[in-house]
Parts: sequence; structure tokens; C-alpha cells
Amino acid sequence: MIPVNTPLLSGNEGKYLQECIDTQWISSEGPFVKRFEKEFADYNNRKYGIAVANGSAALDIAVRALDLPKGSEVIMPTFTIISPAASLIYSNLKPVLVDSKPDTWNMDVGQIEAKITDKTKAILVVHIYGLPVEMDKILELAEKYNLKIIEDAAEMHGQEYNGKKCGSFGDISIFSFYPNKHITTGEGGMIVTDNENLAERCQSLRNLCFKKGQRYVHEELGWNYRMTNLQAALGVAQLENIEKHIEKKRIIGRLYNEKLVSVKDKIQLPLATTDYSENIYWVYGLVASSSEERDHLIMKCSEQKIGTRTFFWCMHEQPVFKKMGLFVKESYPVAENLARCGFYIPAGLGISKKEIEVVANVLTETILNQNIKVS
Ligand SMILES: *Cc1c(COP(=O)(O)O)cnc(C)c1O
Repeated sequence: MIPVNTPLLSGNEGKYLQECIDTQWISSEGPFVKRFEKEFADYNNRKYGIAVANGSAALDIAVRALDLPKGSEVIMPTFTIISPAASLIYSNLKPVLVDSKPDTWNMDVGQIEAKITDKTKAILVVHIYGLPVEMDKILELAEKYNLKIIEDAAEMHGQEYNGKKCGSFGDISIFSFYPNKHITTGEGGMIVTDNENLAERCQSLRNLCFKKGQRYVHEELGWNYRMTNLQAALGVAQLENIEKHIEKKRIIGRLYNEKLVSVKDKIQLPLATTDYSENIYWVYGLVASSSEERDHLIMKCSEQKIGTRTFFWCMHEQPVFKKMGLFVKESYPVAENLARCGFYIPAGLGISKKEIEVVANVLTETILNQNIKVS
């Protein structure tokens, strides 16, 4: 079996976890939490880091902390995970969607301006699968229309846009440390910002909004979204190896590019570089020419015990949002095509060169010999 993801725990993870046990610091009050926050914020050139239970929690807090007026519109991509849209809904905000670009799979920044109204208060940027959103255009629009930037960099640890870290562009930015991300804490997330007030709001929101001085008196509702010392211990150890992880991800990506070169005219491979970034290959995605072909390839991989996963499903096609009366009759053809024809193959940090070769061979043979007939 070649799973779609395996993490890499090759540094001080065990040592630091043992330290938690030996010192009996296992809750969120333990010293690794502050250390991880400081070191991760420094790594991203941000002033404040607020560690939380997971990346989705980080989004919930980040969005809430901005205190946007109820009913405000926030522009975001339709092609992404549910978490960013959910966090807007939880804070009584309205997601306004834009389509993707066919080459980078990121939000088409050229479509944003036409969606801006009097009610628009923010752009929620999500960097997708390994290449960043075109941030220059986002920064320009934010300036011109006085919009906040919420940056979901959950898949982008260490990636840079024109030499500047992803996660350093938002008024508030977030990361996830789920085991398929570039560094992991099992479950975990982080909010980063340079704004002291926002940082304090986030600390309060992650900790049930306990009041200073009168702990059990609440002016506002928050969540228990705290990160434990055990998670942070893993985070500190993982961060020590982040450059190695990023390099390994790029090696995996390049190896697949090489091994799949004979099918590159038959199936879309990830874009290796743009003029602002080099792909970090959070996942190694492929876009088939039809959903039938995609499903056939997934089936052939599965027969060979190779794990795959389909791409995100668009926000405007989510049953849960349809039931809320959102995005009625909206259509975003590029994203719809990605959702139907895209899938990704094993490319986790724990994968071996041999496994990459096996996966590439199965795909190449299937694509070159296939006569896809779907009944
Ligand atoms: C992984 C991910 C998240 C959510 O992170 P969790 O830690 O799994 O909650 C949010 N946004 C994007 C773009 C992601 O890839």
C-alpha cells in the first residue's frame, strides 16, 4: 500500500514529547506552546503567533477577530476546502466567490474587482496546492477599496511570493499543522499577525473569552481552541526541520515531473514555476481531460494499492450552502472542471523514491494504453 500521505517525524519529536511527560506539562499551559508561537511567528516574519487546535479553528478565530459588521461580504475562491467559507458563515458574513485560474488552480484575481460592492469588507485569500495567489493584485485592491486581507496559508509553510513569505501578507494569516502539511503537530493550527490588538483578540477567542480579573465572567463568546503542550512539542521539533521538509517536497514534485514527462500532453501536471514562485508541491495534483478519465485513473491506482484523493469540491456546489440559499444559479466553470477532473497522488514527506517510481509507472501505463470506455 502506498498511502496518499505519510508524515516525516525524523528529528527531536520523541525527545520533546518525552520532556512533556517527564515535566508533566501536557496542557496548553506548557512551555512548548509559547516557544512554538514565538519561533513560528519569527519564521514567518510576523510579530505574533497564536497556536490553536487546528487550521479550521484558526480561521474561525481570525475571521471573528476582525469584527466585520454582520452581513459584510468577503471575497474568496470557490475552489477550496470548506473551512474558510464555514468560518465566514459562523461569523454572520457572506462569502462572495470567484473562479480559479486553469494553470495555477488559485483564485482568478482578475475577477475580484467586479465583485466588490459597498458591503465588501475583506478578501479571504487561499493559496492552493503549492503555488501562491497573485498577491500584488490583492494588495492593490485591498488598498484601493480599504479591504482587510485574511490569508489562509494552511498549505504554504515556507512558500514565498516574490521572495516574501506566504503567511506574511494578511492583516491576519493562518496555518494548519495537520499531518499532510509541511510541518505537523498531529492536529494543530496557528494564527499570525503584526497587530497587537488582533493578537490579543485571538488569544481571548481561543480561550473562551475568559475575562481578565474576573475569569468566569464573559462579555463575549469564544471557543476552547487551545493547542496542547504535546502538540507544540511536535511543532518545535518539526520547525527545526522545515527547510529540509520543503526541499524534500520540491524533490518529490520534480521527480514526478520527470517520471510523468511522457504523458504531459495527455494529462495536466502541476505548474512547476511562475514568475513569482517555485511550486512547493503541497500535493501533487493532476487534472484529467474528463471526469471519466479521472475516475478510471483513480480506480487503476486503487487496484495497485496506491492511495489518491480527488480535488476540493467547489463552495457554490456544496449541498450545505445550497440549503442555506447561497450561491443560487452561480457557475464557475474552471473550478467546476478542477473539482471533477482533478486528483492527487501520493506525495507525502515520508514517501520513497521507489514508491514515486511505482506510482508514476502505473499512471503512465494507464494513460498511454487506456481506452476509456465508460458504460
Ligand atoms: C488543511 C487546510 C485547512 C484546515 O486545516 P485543519 O487543520 O485540517 O483544520 C484550511 N485551509 C486549507 C486551505 C487547508 O488546506
